[in-house]
Amino acid sequence: MSKSRVLFFVLALVFSACEKEKKAPPPVVQQAEAPKLSAPAFNADSAYWFVAKQVQFGPRNPNSKGHTECARWLATELKKYADNVIEQTAALRAFDGKMLNSVNFIAEFNPQAAKRILLCAHWDTRPFADQDTSRKNEPILGANDGGSGVGVLLEIARQLKIHHPQVGVDIVLFDAEDYGQPEESAFAPQEDTYCLGSQYWGKNKHKKDYHAEFGILLDMVGGKDARFVWENTSVNFAERILSKVWGVANEIGYGSYFNYFRKSGLTDDHLYVNQLTGIPTIDIIEFNMGAPSGTFHPAWHTHADNMDVIDRNTLKAVGQTLLEVVFMEK
Ligand SMILES: [Zn+2]
Repeated sequence: MSKSRVLFFVLALVFSACEKEKKAPPPVVQQAEAPKLSAPAFNADSAYWFVAKQVQFGPRNPNSKGHTECARWLATELKKYADNVIEQTAALRAFDGKMLNSVNFIAEFNPQAAKRILLCAHWDTRPFADQDTSRKNEPILGANDGGSGVGVLLEIARQLKIHHPQVGVDIVLFDAEDYGQPEESAFAPQEDTYCLGSQYWGKNKHKKDYHAEFGILLDMVGGKDARFVWENTSVNFAERILSKVWGVANEIGYGSYFNYFRKSGLTDDHLYVNQLTGIPTIDIIEFNMGAPSGTFHPAWHTHADNMDVIDRNTLKAVGQTLLEVVFMEK
């Protein structure tokens, strides 16, 4: 709430009290101060449950049991809510030569609408804990890194089934984002080893002429007191969309999460969506510029990335902002 708003609110209360003494009906002025919410309410408990459900499958790195089982569940879940679900399967070669059995999910809402918005996240989890001090070669649970973005998007899918935005929406869950080459690797350094699912989708879109007005990628959106900044890949390709989304978030009261620090560009799925499809796409990703050296969530790529780090308030801030953005589009 801005200072002028607080002042207005106080004056309104004083005015209200004076009116009461004169026994006149109290003016209903507080209504004018409520944030402009035009979208349905995002249910953070539901989103939290969707994250927990994924984590129950265990690590979801490609070619693992958890990956196969979670894929089956995601397909069932998305089909409950979307008008149409496309499962785009591919065998993708990883930096270590392994062929990863991958599936990107494309869930279409209002498929006949010409104007479309793309919402995306990666659903796979990292096969290593290379930022941890122990069990570095074991896969992580990825509650925040993987689970949180998908959890928010599944709750949005559930809301889109009940309420109907005027525009079309495509929720795309990318596979094989987090199988990138670790810094300490026995293999020769290679380029573009992360984001294999989005690279594949960018080169093989589910519809030949697919286009969206803009895209929003979620990655690590469940950490307590997360800070989302303007990272430079998003600025370079889609500054207008950053302004729009951050503006909405601040307008509805989530300015403490969505701040305007600038950060150097990240390689995440949005880079390839921008480069390969021309859809201006931003990344909402935790990066705490206040930490000594600037950092992702402390549990990033460690075994501590479990349900203990997931905070409903952060899921709510991100999910409600996205719903507002979707429902204000005409
Ligand atoms: Zn990751």
